[in-house]
Parts: sequence; structure tokens; C-alpha cells
Amino acid sequence: MNEPANDRDYVQSMMRGALCRCPACGEGKLFRKFLKVADECPSCGEELHHQRADDFPAYLVMFIVGHIVVSLILAVEIAYKPSYLIHALMWGPLTLALTLALLQPVKGAIVGLQWALRMHGFDGKGGDELDPVPAPATPAQ
Ligand SMILES: [Zn+2]
Repeated sequence: MNEPANDRDYVQSMMRGALCRCPACGEGKLFRKFLKVADECPSCGEELHHQRADDFPAYLVMFIVGHIVVSLILAVEIAYKPSYLIHALMWGPLTLALTLALLQPVKGAIVGLQWALRMHGFDGKGGDELDPVPAPATPAQ
């Protein structure tokens, strides 16, 4: 059975992932721990272990949080010129809080996008033809 490659709504899948829900059904929990994706959806059984978000969510979160925090630092510095101690007390916790708040939704959105684009075995064929695992080298005899 050949399914069209674009039958999965990637915006909906990313939104479901950002809400930490299964990109396929939107019901089951996507994560079994803070950043550990469940092997399969507890609601619909969709296999989720194919995801390979790797470091991309962290890079995206750094990009987003950096733009927010640096903009705020510059705005506050120009407007109020607080001491460096005040800066450190304000921006350190904000940076940590934003990072922890965004990591899971961003990773969920990335997994949702991978699912929608049928990447890394999300094509239902069970394999990952683009990144095959190489056969172990046999010693020459
Ligand atoms: Zn599901």
C-alpha cells in the first residue's frame, strides 16, 4: 500500500508534539520522562521510537531564549542601567526557566515534524533507508 507522502498535516503534528501529545492521534503522552520520548503512543500505539531529534531541540531553544533574554538585557540596560548584580539576579533565573519551559515543547514539535515528514522510519516501513546502520566490519583473513 503506497500512501501519499504529504497526507500528514505537519502543522497539526507539530502542534500536537508541542503540547507533548502523540503527533498521530493527539491523545497519548509523547514523553515518558522529561525528554525521553515514549517508544509508542499509549493511546493509538503509533511507534514513536523512530524519532531522532538529537541536539536540534537544544539548538532551537538556545536560539529562541538567547534572542528573548539578550533583547531584554539590552532594553533594561538602556532604560534603567541597573548594576551587574541586578542583571545577574534577573537574567540567570529567567534564562534557566525559559530553557526548561521550552525544551519539552520544542522537542515535541520536532518529533511531530519528523513524524509528519515520515523521517527516520516514521514511514511505516519500520526501517530507515536514508541512514542505514552499516554492517559490522569483518576482519580480513
Ligand atoms: Zn497516538
